[in-house]
Amino acid sequence: MADTDDRTTEPGQDQLQELAIAASNQRARAYTPYSGFDTGAAVLTESGATHTGVLVENLIFGLAMCAERVALFSAVTAGSGRPVALAVAAPSTAGQVTFPCGPCLQVAIELGGAEMKIVATDPENVGNLHVRTIDELAPGIPRRQNPGAGKL
Ligand SMILES: [Zn+2]
Repeated sequence: MADTDDRTTEPGQDQLQELAIAASNQRARAYTPYSGFDTGAAVLTESGATHTGVLVENLIFGLAMCAERVALFSAVTAGSGRPVALAVAAPSTAGQVTFPCGPCLQVAIELGGAEMKIVATDPENVGNLHVRTIDELAPGIPRRQNPGAGKL
């Protein structure tokens, strides 16, 4: 990639921190009357744009949608290019920071590829980032040869 190309492919620590803050700030908008598990997410795309999402629950539990997928779908809808990082801010569970679920990782790898950075943070300590790749979180997960190719 040329030096003059300002597209984001390898987000820096500052960008990941800003993304975690954006995810955490969204939590207030989560619709979680059943679980109270307020979750926010934010996606950084190669164009440098940020798209956010929140957990949206429903009386019919299967209709709920994770914050991470809402953010990823928002990025696709906006046409802002391949996702390079996904941050999630949710309460810790059993003392462990909450990473995206399997279906969200499957959507993320489809659009952003295995090297996409996944950032998890506890809203009580947003400065403490837990950064992994999808391959580290879900080795062997099905993937395309060219993530997002053709439409992002
Ligand atoms: Zn999920």
